[in-house]
Amino acid sequence: MREIKKLLIANRGEIALRIHRACHEMGIKTVAVHSTADADAMHVRLADEAICIGPPSATESYLNIPNIISAAEISGADAVHPGYGFLSENAKFAEIVESHDILFVGPKPEHIRVMGDKVEAKRTAGALGLPLVPGSDGPLNDVEEAKQVANAIGYPVLIKAASGGGGRGMKVVPSEDQLETLMKQAGSEAKAAFGDATVYMEKYLGNPRHIEFQVFGDGEGNAVHLGERDCSLQRRHQKVLEEAPSPVLGHAERDRMGGIVADAMAEMGYRGAGTIEFLWENGEFYFIEMNTRLQVEHPVTEAITGLDLVREQIRVAEGRGLSVTQDQVTFHGHAIECRINAEDPRTFAPSPGTVTQFHAPGGMHVRVDSGLYSGYRVPPYYDSMIAKLIVYGTTRERCLMRLRRALEEMAIEGVKTTVPLHQALLDDPEFQKGDYTIKWLEEWLKREEVPAEA
Ligand code: ADP
Repeated sequence: MREIKKLLIANRGEIALRIHRACHEMGIKTVAVHSTADADAMHVRLADEAICIGPPSATESYLNIPNIISAAEISGADAVHPGYGFLSENAKFAEIVESHDILFVGPKPEHIRVMGDKVEAKRTAGALGLPLVPGSDGPLNDVEEAKQVANAIGYPVLIKAASGGGGRGMKVVPSEDQLETLMKQAGSEAKAAFGDATVYMEKYLGNPRHIEFQVFGDGEGNAVHLGERDCSLQRRHQKVLEEAPSPVLGHAERDRMGGIVADAMAEMGYRGAGTIEFLWENGEFYFIEMNTRLQVEHPVTEAITGLDLVREQIRVAEGRGLSVTQDQVTFHGHAIECRINAEDPRTFAPSPGTVTQFHAPGGMHVRVDSGLYSGYRVPPYYDSMIAKLIVYGTTRERCLMRLRRALEEMAIEGVKTTVPLHQALLDDPEFQKGDYTIKWLEEWLKREEVPAEA
């Protein structure tokens, strides 16, 4: 056991703020690091200390390992929380942090490494008893092998990058005559994006939902699951809105599948927060990947379980173990998160600039995680997500009504946002019924006219 007194937050934006809040509620001092573009950011203002680590470009600042380590040493931080994105799934970074005798608030580096390689991750998941999408047994070595696998599982197939992320390096192959070309394209895209041309193959599922399970391990062989999140509402493989529980899953199925993932994590000796992502079709789960970090959508799980996931992460890093056993984890009501991006809601073109007015909605069971304030300048260098609106209700219907009310109250002026998209979605009868898959939103966007303004 080792108590954390000061924690360095190796991230920016809403997640940096989220981590800062958990720390202060636990009596832990915080150190913000920031690029020159983020000198006025809310996480920098609220932290106990702030250190500039480089110019706007993320490679020179938020991904700059030597500068982040120096900041930790100079400030005397005894722990580093990587948030999500940036260095959160960089096994090398975790190792370097630990080699400086600083606690890494995250999984063991070897688990980050295994799960970061999607081929290895699939192999590990299969060995731990998780159901897999049928596909190649490891990387594809050549087109001949690819043809054989595709013939065995049947077209359409999906070529995926072993080092993939954010939906990049993926190609749907409808038939054999296009296999060679698309496989080469996927390989070179993967090489350009991740420096690794390794690809593998999966059966392309026609119309699945994306359902993921939140897991937590103490690193000592104990693990719990915190239920699932439905993240099927996606555009270009990017999540737009998430909900918990999934509209299609019942208690029995949650307990069964949750039990399987928790057992797998216990067997691995997994430490900290993780998410096991599945595609779900016709009542069957198919593992696609594991994220070895906190997820953007973690607040919907917090809303229905009453647990503070960042607090749990910190407890586990300190060696204090989880605050709950599986029997003590209970699920109540329904929660939805809307990702609010500084983008044109019709074209999705980024809309950086100065936020002239900001008013956050409030009231019962309404949570806004955001670093926004009136006068804040949304920098053009980073992800366009500027706020998350998370709403809870005792039932899905009440959650939807409250979400509508909260979106009405929200005012963000000066930049375009995706608020009107969420408002239009809420009016859709299929969405209201929870009747959607990962394909649904893109089809909906083709037929619906989203207004430019809220
Ligand atoms: P990434 O790490 O690039 O995000 P994932 O493996 O998590 O890649 O897949 C991202 C998204 O791509 C999924 O949420 C789903 O929409 C789609 N996808 C992935 N694998 C398949 C598959 N086998 N069949 C159909 N769609 C898939």
